[in-house]
Amino acid sequence: MSDGSGARPAIIQVALPAPLMRTFDYRPPETHVPLQAGQRVRVPFGRTRKVGVIMGTADHTSVPPKKLRAAEALLDEQPLLDQSLRELLAWAAHYYHYPLGEVIAAALPAQLRKGSELPCAAERWRITAAGHSVEISALAKRARVQAAIMDVAHAHRQGFGREQLADLSGSWRKSLSPLIEQGWLESIPGSLWPSSAENHPLPGPSLNTHQRAAVEAIHGTKGYAAFLLDGVTGSGKTEVYLACIKEQLAAGRQSLVLVPEIGLTPQLVMRFRERLGLEVAVLHSGLSDGDRLLAWAAAADGSAQVILGTRSAVFTPLARPGLLIVDEEHDPSLKQQDGFRYSARDLAVSRAARLRVPIVLGSATPAFESLDNVAGSRYTRLELPHRPGASKPPSFRLLDISRQPTREGLSPALEESIGQHLADDGQVLVYLNRRGYAPVLMCAGCGEVAECTRCDARMVVHRSQGYLACHHCGAQRAIPENCEHCGDVLRPIGQGTERLETYLRERFPEQTLVRIDRDTTRRRGEIERRLETVRSGEARLLLGTQMLTKGHDFPNVTLVAIVDADQGLFGTDFRASERLAQTILQVAGRAGRAERPGEVLIQTLYPQHPLLQALTTEGYAAFAQTALAERRDSGWPPAGYLALLRAESTDREAVFRFLQQANEAAEPLAGPGVLRLGPAPAPMEKRQGRYRGQLLIRAGKRGELQNFLGPWRGLLEGLPAARQARWSLDIDPVELF
Ligand code: ADP
Ligand code: ZN
Repeated sequence: MSDGSGARPAIIQVALPAPLMRTFDYRPPETHVPLQAGQRVRVPFGRTRKVGVIMGTADHTSVPPKKLRAAEALLDEQPLLDQSLRELLAWAAHYYHYPLGEVIAAALPAQLRKGSELPCAAERWRITAAGHSVEISALAKRARVQAAIMDVAHAHRQGFGREQLADLSGSWRKSLSPLIEQGWLESIPGSLWPSSAENHPLPGPSLNTHQRAAVEAIHGTKGYAAFLLDGVTGSGKTEVYLACIKEQLAAGRQSLVLVPEIGLTPQLVMRFRERLGLEVAVLHSGLSDGDRLLAWAAAADGSAQVILGTRSAVFTPLARPGLLIVDEEHDPSLKQQDGFRYSARDLAVSRAARLRVPIVLGSATPAFESLDNVAGSRYTRLELPHRPGASKPPSFRLLDISRQPTREGLSPALEESIGQHLADDGQVLVYLNRRGYAPVLMCAGCGEVAECTRCDARMVVHRSQGYLACHHCGAQRAIPENCEHCGDVLRPIGQGTERLETYLRERFPEQTLVRIDRDTTRRRGEIERRLETVRSGEARLLLGTQMLTKGHDFPNVTLVAIVDADQGLFGTDFRASERLAQTILQVAGRAGRAERPGEVLIQTLYPQHPLLQALTTEGYAAFAQTALAERRDSGWPPAGYLALLRAESTDREAVFRFLQQANEAAEPLAGPGVLRLGPAPAPMEKRQGRYRGQLLIRAGKRGELQNFLGPWRGLLEGLPAARQARWSLDIDPVELF
């Protein structure tokens, strides 16, 4: 039927957003339009209606004739999802053991999920000069919908379409015609996306030999090939992406670029737009539903040539795919952490293979999985070993704080260096991944510590706002005057960014300091405003959390001070040291991009730790080799494969009853290569008033794990305790809690 011959099938198989691992059979809807896989239909479902996607057809069904219902309406004339995308989604549903209908729902923009029409290039409108002088508030009294349309027209001066009107009441069509007749709106049929004809791309630097070799290798492939573009921060990876995208543009093909949420900054979008000389379609969570749908549709019809998006953009349909890119491919945020828990990086690789196009995974600190894929010749490594021009890599030094006293968490040696760099007219970045004033509030008398009542966690002191906050559930309460047990005074213990800010201001009173963390950047535009003070050179001291580590360059920073490296050294997660190394290098990478080389100082209690030694003296590659060897010995990924069954409930017993039953159900199914670890409480057992437990499954081979998971997943639903706990299965988990 996908040939569009129009023959009417007896049964259509529809993927619907419902928690079941199968499609649903319906009789086809009444329509003269040929039925094809990938079209949406509206169907009755229980007492409600749902929108689903036709996945296939059949002659027979096991549904008894009386129960077999007919689809109510066909919503698309052409398939919304092409065959390659349908295959990817079906494969993902299978691999992640998640219901296909829910997988498809995650791939579709909200408006399409609800059944709205796809934007149409033939139906675009724009406000006229006469339209600008219309008084909308007066119009609203006579014709509410007309006024609402004029509001939309004002907000989208370049033009708008169905997608911007979809959220108005259903009758917008009737109200549109009088506006056009009045001459307030005009029709602008043409393209969904602005054409690039009149723009001139800004010239970029000429590529160095390594960059050119990378571009040629990528451009020289026929069909699918995966590349790991391994280059330190500032080595010119983005220039390689841009050059490859230009090659694709010249050939009339589209490029899809995925970046972590935090990396999709206005600066990055601007750089792509200016250098490519075209309007880039951007897809991220902050968009309105209408804008998201427009970008999606423009990618699907091919008018948008370059698509830049976060995680879920991996599912964007492409009319003429040429190249896929995943920047910061090691970043954990590329993995969806709830609902349909997919890895956007891994799906991008799978998608590229289906589309038979090259994919480039870029990072300064590649994930161990990717290094393993290079070792196994599945990916080709392309190296950018140097920063271009005069800019030199930073030097690293470990500061042993086990033997020197610290003041407010800073050793005298670190303070001295900060002072030195400031005196030499440098900028200093102080990194502490802990917001608030202090992580602990403790009674000086009895040692009692303020804890969250809903989580196994300590309350963090936020002194300027005057409250204690739990960073896990968001609970807040006033800072108590005295200990409620013994009445003694309470002391904040340890440092957060707020406390460090206070101290650094006292210590370096003549310097302008700017703090960037979630607390100081809640207001819209605040992060840009603060970053601008760094860029302009007004702020000399820059203090912040993880928010600083991605997407922003600080060319005049000459010293990066990492206040506490030890958070990651002995974490419960086997990936803790990998993450620590990545964080250190990502923070370090912000520094010294101009002519002045940067210096990185790392405070630690364990300067002899082999991983810290390898990282700071030999670099990430050597560190990764050491750590990878450990993983091979111990069987952890990438030397093994994981699935994590999580369960939670307000009733602790219900959690473990379910996990115990799941464990027993696994017993006869698990082959000799499938290891079960647990059931065990999650590292933070209680969170938001719910108890959490887990059962970890590990296998030496991916196939072995998948063969086990299929039948096991089928049994989990039917377990007696399955309804008393909320549970989920996470394949290739990146966080073990
Ligand atoms: P990355 O993406 O690896 O962090 P970028 O591509 O952003 O690196 O490059 C870092 C800086 O170096 C940018 O300002 C860029 O314009 C500049 N740059 C990149 N390649 C070259 C080159 N071949 N010659 C001169 N400058 C370059
Ligand atoms: Zn809490």
